Amino acid sequence: MYDTIIIGAGPAGLSAAIYTCRKKLKTLLISVDVGGQGNLTAHIENYPGALPQSGVELMDKFRQQAESFGAEFSFGKVKEIKKENNLFNVLVANGENYVAKTIILTYGKVARTLGLDNEEALFGRGVSTCATCDGPLYKDKIVAIVGGGNSALDAAEELSAYAKKVYLVHRRKEFRADEITIDKVKVNPKVELILDSIPVKIIADKFVTGTIIENVLTKEKKELPIDGLFLEIGYIVDSSMVKNLVKINEYNEVVTDAICRTSVPGVFAAGDMTSMPYKQAIIAAGEGAKAALSAYSYLTGNKTSTDWH
Ligand SMILES: Cc1cc2nc3c(=O)[nH]c(=O)nc-3n(C[C@H](O)[C@H](O)[C@H](O)COP(=O)(O)OP(=O)(O)OC[C@H]3O[C@@H](n4cnc5c(N)ncnc54)[C@H](O)[C@@H]3O)c2cc1C
Repeated sequence: MYDTIIIGAGPAGLSAAIYTCRKKLKTLLISVDVGGQGNLTAHIENYPGALPQSGVELMDKFRQQAESFGAEFSFGKVKEIKKENNLFNVLVANGENYVAKTIILTYGKVARTLGLDNEEALFGRGVSTCATCDGPLYKDKIVAIVGGGNSALDAAEELSAYAKKVYLVHRRKEFRADEITIDKVKVNPKVELILDSIPVKIIADKFVTGTIIENVLTKEKKELPIDGLFLEIGYIVDSSMVKNLVKINEYNEVVTDAICRTSVPGVFAAGDMTSMPYKQAIIAAGEGAKAALSAYSYLTGNKTSTDWH
């Protein structure tokens, strides 16, 4: 029997574990891996207090810190969480199951990709799914962004501050973004729109050097020399494990309040899989700390911060 089980060991889950363990809560983290998306960035430059280093190095420090306070780990994919007699039963795909008084959900998200042959191998070598994170690495370079929603258009604006040229490749003619954002991008002299088109190949030696774009209407292909390919085609949050337990929004994110409570007492959530905006490591870590303190308040009957107002 655990005081709390944390699902996921990315920045949110590991931070939550540091806080629950320091409150002497018996804590188990169940996760597919340690580090989550934090492992996917070659250089994290915007995590305060941590001088630029690889995501893997930073996540390993999170793990060591959580372990040093007594966090236990179990590896596996959680399939379902059920509430039974005011306790939570966590079912793992490998057949194990665990019981806890509280749950902290931190299972993150996965970026949608194009499914091209060498795409996965080129992550961190020119292919990116995070303009905010990797944009500064492309100063005076040429980049292409794929997508036609708000995140793609925002990325075009953001990247044009660094890159000397930005191609925005979209499979349709019309964008699905706010008019004001579309208007800004259309008049940005650094941005060139390539519409009705999709990338069908990434050209690379060790790093990305170009992409082949196909017009979906004419099937005509052309090569764009680029240094970076940013995929801004959305992300997938898989909330199937809690679909019958907590309130989920239209993006499959678990709905949380300001102190990381979900619709079910005793279940808390933090990081990229919640309805909170701004998906970044520092934010996930901060939310993880909040979720842990809320779980502690729930277990001890202490007042939560919102009760003080
Ligand atoms: C390429 C890239 C570069 C980035 N660069 C930066 C950067 O420079 N700075 C920055 O601040 N942010 C960056 N980010 C964003 C940052 O990594 C995320 O915001 C952060 O990792 C979110 O943390 P999280 O703990 O909420 O989720 P995640 O990091 O997604 O972790 C989720 C965890 O849950 C586990 N999990 C998922 N499903 C299950 C399941 N069913 N059962 C058990 N475990 C499960 C996963 O294995 C993982 O351990 C970047 C993201 C990407 C993709």
